[in-house]
Amino acid sequence: MANVKTNKTAKNGNKNNGNSEKSSGIDIKNGKIKKSGTIATQPVESPEKKAPSISELAAQVKIAEKKTSGDRKPLIELSHVNKSFQVGKTTVPVLKDINFKIYPKEFIIILGPSGSGKSTLLNTLLGLEYPTSGTVKINGQDVTKLNQNQLAKFRYATFGIVFQKADWVRSLNVIENVAMPLAINNVGRKERMDIAMFRLKEMGVDDHANYMPTELSGGQQQKVSVSRALTGNPPILVADEPTGNLDTESAGKVMRFFRDLNERLEKTLLMVTHNIDYVSYATRTIYIRDGQIVEGSGSFKE
Ligand code: ADP
Ligand code: MG
Repeated sequence: MANVKTNKTAKNGNKNNGNSEKSSGIDIKNGKIKKSGTIATQPVESPEKKAPSISELAAQVKIAEKKTSGDRKPLIELSHVNKSFQVGKTTVPVLKDINFKIYPKEFIIILGPSGSGKSTLLNTLLGLEYPTSGTVKINGQDVTKLNQNQLAKFRYATFGIVFQKADWVRSLNVIENVAMPLAINNVGRKERMDIAMFRLKEMGVDDHANYMPTELSGGQQQKVSVSRALTGNPPILVADEPTGNLDTESAGKVMRFFRDLNERLEKTLLMVTHNIDYVSYATRTIYIRDGQIVEGSGSFKE
């Protein structure tokens, strides 16, 4: 097999990405964070001169987002993506020839049973794992061509991520964790705390702002994860089983919040779940089983 890149992982790229985001004039009134300053994410020395700068890529994603649905230019495009893991001497294929396109302003649910490859698919799409073969394009840029440092910056500028299991900085309390992405990008303390508190209020967990994250229930932690994912006001929100630990009422609240983000703030949402109950919130559902995209809802059964 040509072009085989096996089992490389690009994790830990999130930290210390060196962005400097000027952030004066932040307006969080409508849940939008408007910045009058420019995002200056250009590395001083870029080893890959040919690759577009991170700020260019981020700007492109934002422009694509603004386009009407008449412009059917995909924001996310996976082509012939395969992903295998090496377990001892055995190669275990997990994703098998995945092809799909996601357009700006869509709310996509990827639905599939446990073990079908949903988390692996998201990690590959986010550039946290390289595919074994195939391409992952975000607004036309093949992210598998970016190095880890570029990937981390691009990921930060493009995606808000809610992981299946929250990963906290254990020495920081809830609000400091939520403000973390802004701290990394040099937003001043008062401003980032204001934004973090706004996001916590939005999810109804502001009364736990000064707790340590691990003192919260699984459900509360997931809500805080959503707050954290949105602090940088990314164009695309990606969530891996965000309702997994929530009771029905809280899960409904999160789903309605997501629908509002999509409809009112026109964010592109991509969520994976094994729960068929949520598909009514999405503008489109993609079904996955045994690492393959399957056509039609009739064939899906948990
Ligand atoms: P889902 O999120 O749909 O439950 P996953 O993507 O987590 O599914 O896993 C899909 C399959 O890939 C599972 O069989 C899992 O055991 C396997 N898998 C996931 N990550 C690895 C890994 N790092 N090494 C080996 N196998 C893995
Ligand atoms: Mg999973």
